[in-house]
Amino acid sequence: MTAIREIDPAGDFLVCEAGCVLEDVQNAADEVGRLFPLSLGAQGSCRIGGNISTNAGGVNVLRYGMMRDLVLGLEVVLPDGRIWNGLRSLKKDNTGYDLKQLFIGGEGTLGIVTAASLKLVARPAEKVTLWLGVASPAVAVELYTLFRTRLGELISSFELIAGLGVDAAVEHLPGVRAPIEGSHDWHLLIELAWSFDEGLLERAEAVIEEAFEREMIADGTIAQSGDQAANMWRIREGQSEATRNIGNIVRSDVSVRTSDIPDLVDAVDRFVRSEAGDVRILPFGHVGDGNLHFNFLLPFDNDSPERHKLLLNRLYDELDRRGGSISAEHGIGRMKQAAMMSRKSEVELDLMRRLKAAIDPDNIMNPGVILPAD
Ligand SMILES: Cc1cc2nc3c(=O)[nH]c(=O)nc-3n(C[C@H](O)[C@H](O)[C@H](O)COP(=O)(O)OP(=O)(O)OC[C@H]3O[C@@H](n4cnc5c(N)ncnc54)[C@H](O)[C@@H]3O)c2cc1C
Repeated sequence: MTAIREIDPAGDFLVCEAGCVLEDVQNAADEVGRLFPLSLGAQGSCRIGGNISTNAGGVNVLRYGMMRDLVLGLEVVLPDGRIWNGLRSLKKDNTGYDLKQLFIGGEGTLGIVTAASLKLVARPAEKVTLWLGVASPAVAVELYTLFRTRLGELISSFELIAGLGVDAAVEHLPGVRAPIEGSHDWHLLIELAWSFDEGLLERAEAVIEEAFEREMIADGTIAQSGDQAANMWRIREGQSEATRNIGNIVRSDVSVRTSDIPDLVDAVDRFVRSEAGDVRILPFGHVGDGNLHFNFLLPFDNDSPERHKLLLNRLYDELDRRGGSISAEHGIGRMKQAAMMSRKSEVELDLMRRLKAAIDPDNIMNPGVILPAD
């Protein structure tokens, strides 16, 4: 189940089996001068079947979309034992219901994905990685708007990290260095890329200069080597690992409209300060996608399941007020089932139950995942 069955740089696709490790697929695309753009911290171990079934996101969603946007076709073993061969590699195919979408993000509840045809994109030639210190999420969103206006689709990643999380990474991750000096409440890690060999660096510098002139950034730097860029990414990817050294973490994975991020962060910070004074907020995530891993930091000696529940419930209330999502890229599983059930309309839940019953009437595929088992 780990074979790459076909790779076609002219058609910009690759057909692989579901057991392929994501990094192996990225490498196979690279060998033919293409990019498979799904990129996330677990890429050395997670597998394509899991990426499809969780509709994984990661750091390049802004430019290339989630796994759903990268799948052209699927081969699936159905609960009744039949094999559905939907392994088409077509960019255009309007022949009725798009059945593959049911299995992408289906968390293994409708069938077992055995192979997939995946979209490849042009491999960037020049890449520019920047690190900026900013005063607030509001400024981060303003900067995102500026970069979007000036550089459009050349932005691959636009990641916000709380200063507390950056400090934790510098202190606790071996070999990690602070990209800029001084203390900053918030940081941005931005990656730009295009297919030409040169010229992007100068364009990036012009935007940074404009941001400095408009007093949007306190400090910033551009990675001068692959090593410096890797150090910046280590801080971002190592947030979970680093912050567990400074307290107990309550994790979440939420989304709102990008323009609502500053207001969400302010509102959550306010209730934490008024109702749980020893808790700190520790969000990081994908500004352009409106997706924050909105984590809370609790003291080691004042932690309890009740506190976790209170913090998540209050966060979810704030999401509800803004039409946000309680699960941006990590799915529902069992842990978020109650929160999902209480938020979806009866019509939506009814459609979901009917789909499940139609494809898996005996409820043998991951029972109790997404929808309750009975
Ligand atoms: C360090 C780290 C960083 C991460 N960063 C991100 C991130 O930035 N963005 C993001 O979206 N996610 C992220 N994740 C989560 C990651 O997306 C998922 O763990 C991964 O996509 C799942 O792949 P897996 O092989 O680990 O699947 P598993 O964990 O084995 O399975 C995940 C689900 O898919 C089902 N499944 C697995 N294979 C199949 C199959 N062949 N057919 C049907 N169902 C199947 C399983 O039953 C299960 O419900 C991260 C995880 C880690 C550990």
